[in-house]
Amino acid sequence: MIRPVVNRVFRGIVVAVAAVMVCVDSTAQNLTDTNVRAVIEAIDEYRSANEIRIIKDFVELLSMPNVAVDLADMERNADHITGLLESRGFSTQRLNAGGAPYIYAELLQPGAIETILIYAHFDGQPVQEENWTYPPFSPTLLDAPLLEGGQVVDIDQIEGNVDPEWRLYARSAGDDKMPIIALIHALDALAENDIGLSVNLKLLLDGEEEQGSPDIARLIDEHGDLLDADLLLFCDGPMHQSRQTQLVFGVRGDMSVDITTYGAIRPLHSGHYGNWAPNPIMQLAYLLTSMRDQSGRILIDRYYDDVAPLSELERAAIASMPDVGRSLQDELAVHTPEGAGARLEELIALPAVNTRGIVAGGVGAKGRNIILSTATVSLDLRLVPDQTPERVRDLMEAHVVQQGFHIVYDDPSAETLRHHAKVAKLDWDESGYPALRTAMDDPTALRLTRLMRMISPDLIVTPTMGGSLPLHEFGSRLTAPIIILPLANHDNNQHAENENIRLQNLWDAISIYGAILATFAQYR
Ligand SMILES: [Zn+2]
Repeated sequence: MIRPVVNRVFRGIVVAVAAVMVCVDSTAQNLTDTNVRAVIEAIDEYRSANEIRIIKDFVELLSMPNVAVDLADMERNADHITGLLESRGFSTQRLNAGGAPYIYAELLQPGAIETILIYAHFDGQPVQEENWTYPPFSPTLLDAPLLEGGQVVDIDQIEGNVDPEWRLYARSAGDDKMPIIALIHALDALAENDIGLSVNLKLLLDGEEEQGSPDIARLIDEHGDLLDADLLLFCDGPMHQSRQTQLVFGVRGDMSVDITTYGAIRPLHSGHYGNWAPNPIMQLAYLLTSMRDQSGRILIDRYYDDVAPLSELERAAIASMPDVGRSLQDELAVHTPEGAGARLEELIALPAVNTRGIVAGGVGAKGRNIILSTATVSLDLRLVPDQTPERVRDLMEAHVVQQGFHIVYDDPSAETLRHHAKVAKLDWDESGYPALRTAMDDPTALRLTRLMRMISPDLIVTPTMGGSLPLHEFGSRLTAPIIILPLANHDNNQHAENENIRLQNLWDAISIYGAILATFAQYR
């Protein structure tokens, strides 16, 4: 029998499996529900005995201002986190690329042959302190959500256990310092129970995520060998509204373009020139309706040619998700969603052309009887596998040409306007990026899914989230499958004022991280 690897950092010895209080049957295929339950029970017991200490550790971390542009603050955060990690036996490196630091940390296990890389970030969105009920960097524990009249709890006065529905309010409580504290205590829980990690553990902690991680690509290029792993767990974001644990296998890509259309070179009286002068607003309206129909289906030629269809497994996963469509319609007062009856989860697996704003003329008291010179629309284009920003741009431009426009990239001269029936200026934002979707039948992904079903029997698996993250920077450079494991409460107010974590979500994160690290390699 292979012995589970015991955390030498804490114990200094390898304890034979029989002596391990919670014994994981490490003969791979035989990891059972009972084994996983036993690990979780051991972790929960540790947590129950240490709740106040865990909360205080989290309060300490959350008390440190962490807006990425304040480099001195970010260094202080990095020092503190590095200290937490090194005292658990991690070796750490500060990866600086000019902006806020990234922390790389590794905890190698003697005998472990597989490696899990965990990504989280320790910077937070800027704060507008006047909008917060309690100061964002003075973490405050409340006995209920603020909106439900939660009252302050003095952490030093708590006797016994806390109510898991209590919430800790502070910037980054949900997004995204929670995984750091949860991991630290998952490791402590395992150590206290003499349960070893089954894998090598690597961490990449990002100090500038909320700034768009401008250095991440260069960093991965320079330190790709450090990030070598069998699985990349992306620990960020809110979990499903149903509060069921969720694995998310992808994100959409994103790009944007502003399109301006042109009338006469100066605004004209709509009575004297109406029906004669070309109207840029109407040109824009026709152009937009030529791009997509009323159900959201994109009408641009060959736009769907590159779109990877959902696999059988992905369709089945969506079919078994809780259907939130009806309640969303009620909540948001939507009689008829777009999408011709398809589910939200299917629709966000498709590309989208979204009109995010139009600027032209005035309305209400600012309405004037004129025909304008220009009108501009801003579009955001959500991409899915296997679309590329380059190809999408080509298809979009071909469509604009097909609609009779001459394309320019700078403001057109009078000469240009005289020589072309219709002119459109396209202003592309160059920071667009492609989507990423890990195949659900990837062998490592399948293993994680099955293990997660043991840990959380009500697990939801989702082919993709609708939103965009630049995960392709990892996907295009690393071989490990990338899976998102979001564990913050869905109503954590991330990015806004009064950000918070529900304590039960923190407790669950400790159990889930601990169970994965203790059993992953034993489960094949
Ligand atoms: Zn985040």
